[in-house]
Amino acid sequence: MTVAEALLASGLEAREARLLLARVTGFSEAVVLASPDRSLPSEQENRFSELSARRRAGEPVAYILGEKEFYGLRLAVNPAVLIPRPETKLLVELAMQAEFSSVLDLGTGSGAIALALKRQRPAARVVAVDASAAALGVAKRNGIALGLEVDWRHGLWFDAVRDERFDLVLANPPYVAAGDPHLADLRFEPASALVAGADGLDAMREIVPRARSHLAAGGWLLLEHGLGQESAVRALMQTSGLEEVQTWPDLSGVGRVSGGRA
Ligand code: GLN
Repeated sequence: MTVAEALLASGLEAREARLLLARVTGFSEAVVLASPDRSLPSEQENRFSELSARRRAGEPVAYILGEKEFYGLRLAVNPAVLIPRPETKLLVELAMQAEFSSVLDLGTGSGAIALALKRQRPAARVVAVDASAAALGVAKRNGIALGLEVDWRHGLWFDAVRDERFDLVLANPPYVAAGDPHLADLRFEPASALVAGADGLDAMREIVPRARSHLAAGGWLLLEHGLGQESAVRALMQTSGLEEVQTWPDLSGVGRVSGGRA
């Protein structure tokens, strides 16, 4: 079978099929793209059809490959962590617009946000927390692989930071409502990183009221949230006494991050 035949037979979306075939052959994606007529050894053909079957059964490509790129970083991922999403770049970009010498990432998962910020601002002190020891293991390994120093802490939200204060507190917490039909598509990912009560706001209600006492004067709390949650998140921020409370849209024009400052 040739490369082109294998890609077609996979029944997968072209980009995903190329990524899986690149893994199996050891070629880059560009070489796969440029060599449709190359014939595949049968063991590679078999391996590719195994990986394609996993993808057709709904497993995300990032878990099959064990990695995902985020903000120019190649991150190891496994089912203990949420796969970093392109929309989360907004949180990093907003953070980069602020002046900060210390930052706290709550619910760090693979470490994506903390590591992206440490890469961009090497002098900043970056602390990252996760309640899942398995997730924190993935994040730590990513930090080591990338040579980026983050202070990783195991615990639930602010429990892991006692009375420390930060110039920036960020989180991409779980924000999907428990009955959301969209969860069927996310079934390979950890529910603890996705689901937050009947309305998807349980994590916001745990984080927002405690944020002010962990922010330095003028420091920002920035939270990623779901479609239609911005007014509820902003109300929580206003009630907790944060100022300049506002929402920023992501690339598709959806209110995606809300924030306020101490
Ligand atoms: N953006 C994710 C999704 O809906 C949810 C991430 C989250 O709950 N933090 O696919």
